[in-house]
Amino acid sequence: MVFIFRDVVRKTGCRKLKRKIAALTVAFMFMFSSSAYAVDINIDDTNVEFCGHTGIPFIDSNNRTQVPLRITMESLGAEVDWNQETQTVVVKKDDVMVEVPIGKYYIIKNGQQIPNDTIAIIRGSKTFIPIRAVLEAFGTEVGWKNETQTVTIDSQSFHGSDGRIPSVVVCLKSHPGDFTITTAENYPGNILALKIEKLNEDDMVSIHTDAVKAKEKVYKYGDYFIALLPIDLYAAIGDHDLTVTFNQGKDDEYNITRTFVIKSKTFKTQYLVVSESLNQSNRNDEANKEFVEVVKPARTISEPKKLWEGEFIMAASGRLTTDFAQIRYVNNEISSSRHSGIDLAAPSGTAVLAPNNGNVTLAAPGLLSTGNTIVIDHGMGLFTSYYHLNTMNVRAGDAVSKGDVIGTVGSTGFSTGPHLHYAVSIYNTYVNPHQPIAGIID
Ligand SMILES: [Zn+2]
Repeated sequence: MVFIFRDVVRKTGCRKLKRKIAALTVAFMFMFSSSAYAVDINIDDTNVEFCGHTGIPFIDSNNRTQVPLRITMESLGAEVDWNQETQTVVVKKDDVMVEVPIGKYYIIKNGQQIPNDTIAIIRGSKTFIPIRAVLEAFGTEVGWKNETQTVTIDSQSFHGSDGRIPSVVVCLKSHPGDFTITTAENYPGNILALKIEKLNEDDMVSIHTDAVKAKEKVYKYGDYFIALLPIDLYAAIGDHDLTVTFNQGKDDEYNITRTFVIKSKTFKTQYLVVSESLNQSNRNDEANKEFVEVVKPARTISEPKKLWEGEFIMAASGRLTTDFAQIRYVNNEISSSRHSGIDLAAPSGTAVLAPNNGNVTLAAPGLLSTGNTIVIDHGMGLFTSYYHLNTMNVRAGDAVSKGDVIGTVGSTGFSTGPHLHYAVSIYNTYVNPHQPIAGIID
């Protein structure tokens, strides 16, 4: 089984995208209420409900209703087999055997070819059959209620006079996917978490919102899927739309849009005075280039599963001197970026602990800007970073557990005194280290 997800990297203006999404959403809502998407299957006046893992009926290009083979035929009490060699579905009921070769304009009933005006297809990992042709081969009456767009099947005509009532499989959802935003309080710089449910194995998902500027990834977690999204520090306060597109570019593409609120938060301003020699030797193009070449790549590949457990502990005990996203002036010049983490002032040599389980992806000595630098991957795109360390106890590739001493506080790189710069990021986008992590996805 392959999970395919499409990452969305936005290059165009947000307004433009938002308009486009709004237009798309309207288009798909329209489709829901017309015939192209929603087809109900009704057996003995009971709707068979389909969900992501069973496949969803649809009307094909020949205007025939295609249904997921297995759930439909087994709901009717038939036996379903698959002949891999001939790519043929074999459906048996009593003394009737109907063979349905994939992609062929005929079906075979008890060895005899019957022409058909459409074909059975494999879509994703599901086989879909044209319901009318197959059931009629069993002598079953298949009806169509136009007003409700429902295929009706009388099971008695399938089972004969024994009138056996079929087992109808009911799923909770009649469409393949849905999502919820699981973080209740959403501030600029926080993580916004999505829980995406009831996907097919082959579904593609992409996420669109103007509140998130970074690359998004979706990870399987238990029975559902998770996306951790860094809310843009400069996102407008107020309502934002978030649209999840399922199966973009496929016949069954559709969108679900939900609105969430970004709440207001004020960030402090800090005026820092440093010696010109420190400023010139550690805050320059070379330092920036080194950061881009050494530190950023360590936060680009993440373990696709959640490595952390429970809450993150404090990486060091110390006094908070500069907070996350503080606006900074260095020698009266505004810093181009907000403070990427929190600074904890502590005596040189103070233990720095892994705040949670993860894998070390970087332990680099003597970087110009960040000094002795460690990066830990906690999985699902969540990273923590440690700058200006005195000593480092770990190496790239090491697995660490919550509470392990990974190094000590120092004052290496662009630093005016011993402190730990601790940063949390989704890949390379920094997020608020004060946000409790434990409750985000559990
Ligand atoms: Zn700092």
